[in-house]
Amino acid sequence: IPPVWELGSEFEAQLQQCKEKLGQHVDSVAEKLCSLSKAIWSEPELAYQEHQAHSTLTRFFREQDQGWLVQSRYKLDTAFRAEWGPARGDSGVKVVNVGFLCEYDALEEIGHACGHNLIAEVGAAAALGLKSVLEKMPNPPVGVKVTVIGTPAEEDGGGKIDLIEAGAFEDLDVVFMAHPSQEDASYLPDMAEHDVIVNYYGKTSHAAAYPWKGINALDAAVLAYNNLSLLRQQMKPDWRLHSIIKHGGVKPNIVPSHSELSFYLRTLLRSELQVLRETAEQCFKAAAMATGCKVELHYSKHVFYNVLPNRTLERLFVENGKALGMEFTTDEEVLKNSSGSTDFGNVTFVVPGIHPYFYIGSSALNHTEEYNIAAGSEEAQFYTLRVAKALAMTALDVLFNQELLQQVKEDSLQAKRKDDDALRE
Ligand SMILES: [Zn+2]
Ligand SMILES: [Zn+2]
Repeated sequence: IPPVWELGSEFEAQLQQCKEKLGQHVDSVAEKLCSLSKAIWSEPELAYQEHQAHSTLTRFFREQDQGWLVQSRYKLDTAFRAEWGPARGDSGVKVVNVGFLCEYDALEEIGHACGHNLIAEVGAAAALGLKSVLEKMPNPPVGVKVTVIGTPAEEDGGGKIDLIEAGAFEDLDVVFMAHPSQEDASYLPDMAEHDVIVNYYGKTSHAAAYPWKGINALDAAVLAYNNLSLLRQQMKPDWRLHSIIKHGGVKPNIVPSHSELSFYLRTLLRSELQVLRETAEQCFKAAAMATGCKVELHYSKHVFYNVLPNRTLERLFVENGKALGMEFTTDEEVLKNSSGSTDFGNVTFVVPGIHPYFYIGSSALNHTEEYNIAAGSEEAQFYTLRVAKALAMTALDVLFNQELLQQVKEDSLQAKRKDDDALRE
């Protein structure tokens, strides 16, 4: 790799060469990347309990590749941080810090049905690929640090939000991750989300002998469920709410004195969440009033924010992805519809980032048994490594081009400003 890095046609040629080299490096370590994700896949662990995955990943960075500074149990029991490159401020050289995020939590009963084992592999592959070209650069114009953060508990809790609060993202300039899906898409709207557990308390009684002495907490749960089902028709079309009844009594001949529901409330913007929350609370309280029960609400610790777009990163990612043969969906229905929620949303409020979706060779839907099988399949490997290359190539694009990096930061600020404005309205 030539030592001169100045913008212009020569720069472009050098960049192109680096992109090819990093792709070749990823291919050369494909086997160990595959075993990494297989190891995580074969031992699915729930949010905040990803101990095996944590040790598999930290071992991977410690043993298999030279030069990584690895911190186990980084701020959370099952989080980690692996860094390569100069420390910020070392010898006065300007350092750009690029982050890749790994997720690795699974779902109850259906294992890696969201393919987070592949997210971990993408993060590792992209970081290894980028490092492989950076370490051979004799004279880069800026210092570059590659940081991998292992972020637990995406499916439940929001480990990234714990990590943000602990300051884990403070020194990063830009972050990358990619999520398995049914198609390639540089951006799909992920929604803001807040979860609430609703408990109703009534009074037991013999359901046949003196039912009038009881206060029926199951009835309150049913009413709450129905109230929110009715509310759904008055909601904005891109809002979502869904629930299950977790506890509904012990025996039919005992008037249930306790019931419990779990609700997920989602809106397109975090500013709208407050509106949905207030309306839902009226529904919960109405059910309590109608049945004479007491109601208690327990909101989850963290609010997930919507994922902010970053048009510059998306454009670069699409260019790189296309060069590798990715076919990005143009299906308006897919592009407009929400694809759930992620704690990466909160990350986009503190660091510019991109969270594209990628096809893994299967039409199965996330959170199904079929998707778990697809996420562990040989076929998913090709697509997983391809998206990792596209992310690392996109990182290369912005690292050495101050103007682009500035644009990425400006995009992010603008998107945040727009969201903040909506919050004030
Ligand atoms: Zn999921
Ligand atoms: Zn997921």
